[in-house]
Amino acid sequence: MSESKRLFEEAQRVLVGGVNSPVRAAIRPYPFFVREGKGPYLITVDGNRLIDYVLGYGPLILGHAPEAVTRRIVEYVSKGWLYGAPTELEITLAKKIVNHFPSIEMVRFVNSGGEAVATAIRLARGYTGRRKILKFEGCYHGAVDSVLVKAGSAAAHFGSPSSAGVPEDVAKLTLVARYNDLDSVEKIMREEGNDVAAIIVEPIMANYGVIPPRNDFLKGLREVADRFGSLLIFDEVVTGYRLGLGGAQRYYGVKADITTLGKIIGGGFPVGAVGAREEIMSKLSPKGPVFNAGTFNGHPISMIAGLATIEVLETTNAYEIAINASRKLAEGLDDVLGRYGIDHTINWVPTMLQVFFTKGEVIDHETASRSNAKIYLNLHEELLKRGVFIAPSQFEAIFTSAAHEDSIINETLRQIEDSMKAMVLNKVN
Ligand SMILES: *Cc1c(COP(=O)(O)O)cnc(C)c1O
Repeated sequence: MSESKRLFEEAQRVLVGGVNSPVRAAIRPYPFFVREGKGPYLITVDGNRLIDYVLGYGPLILGHAPEAVTRRIVEYVSKGWLYGAPTELEITLAKKIVNHFPSIEMVRFVNSGGEAVATAIRLARGYTGRRKILKFEGCYHGAVDSVLVKAGSAAAHFGSPSSAGVPEDVAKLTLVARYNDLDSVEKIMREEGNDVAAIIVEPIMANYGVIPPRNDFLKGLREVADRFGSLLIFDEVVTGYRLGLGGAQRYYGVKADITTLGKIIGGGFPVGAVGAREEIMSKLSPKGPVFNAGTFNGHPISMIAGLATIEVLETTNAYEIAINASRKLAEGLDDVLGRYGIDHTINWVPTMLQVFFTKGEVIDHETASRSNAKIYLNLHEELLKRGVFIAPSQFEAIFTSAAHEDSIINETLRQIEDSMKAMVLNKVN
């Protein structure tokens, strides 16, 4: 029996589903356990080397254990790592973020993207004195009650819980619109806008596959939010520093009122951040009445790993490599699937892509759901057998990093070709 299989059986006795975050259990035929990560590779406890396109679900834009980040962490850690008092690192990282995000003047560091979202929503409610928020079907904002909400019945605007344990009363305060559909936003806002504290959106939907905003969608949201006096929250936990320095708001030229960050800004260590202009941020404790606190907020190791990562992004050709890798992979995948006559749509943005097994364009939750998830899962499984790790769910992204050199992409494309051959053969037999 493989060591991973043995560990998975053992894990299931003491960890729910054998894992600590559900998508990790979806790997076929069972989750592999990891011994180490290096550059573009994960090495499993069975000694298999996998080219990694999951990258910790987004944070590792430089790949695993990049030298420049490792050195800074190792240097730092002998000085202790938790003081219950501030360090200069927090100022330095906050300054970087303020520089790179035109809409951000001040930052609060927390410990996860979900915490950043919960804080941003509380801040928006505290600032506006309003109760409701508007989100989009298919957007993910972390394991937070008020956004674990899906569209309710067609007649009502308010959402219904997408998780057990979220009270209806909480879900009702969340209105649900359709991504890339300004009319759906307009309709809800005309009826409820005066009680909407914030519109929260992933500027690129990255947790339902990868779905970029169409034409003027983000500009339209900016306009509607302004018209109704609601705040616009861009959840840039994934997109922050992924498309380039700054976020999707810089890439698309639309400013948010409140921005949530996470993932890359911790360099692979736990982190979240809320950023906004001073007028809004001043409502947070200790200056204002909106409470936020955390034992681990601004943790030195997360700060130093994030700083070191951003410094590499600022001073090297890391983005160029990661972006080229994603483009080349998207083009190569398109080519292979085309040659095998398989209906597909590939959505690409710099350093992220996803393939949907459907002919039509994928612009929202509904069109993404038309993808044949079985083909995707087969591809995941066949690739894994051949040393390539893509997320086990259609509704995640394929990420690239600065460690994904041309040779890695070429090897991946060969394995995609072989996987397709195997899948077509299996189907015939
Ligand atoms: C990952 C993610 C979150 C949640 O971040 P955690 O650190 O997992 O809590 C929130 N929003 C978006 C857009 C994310 O991709």
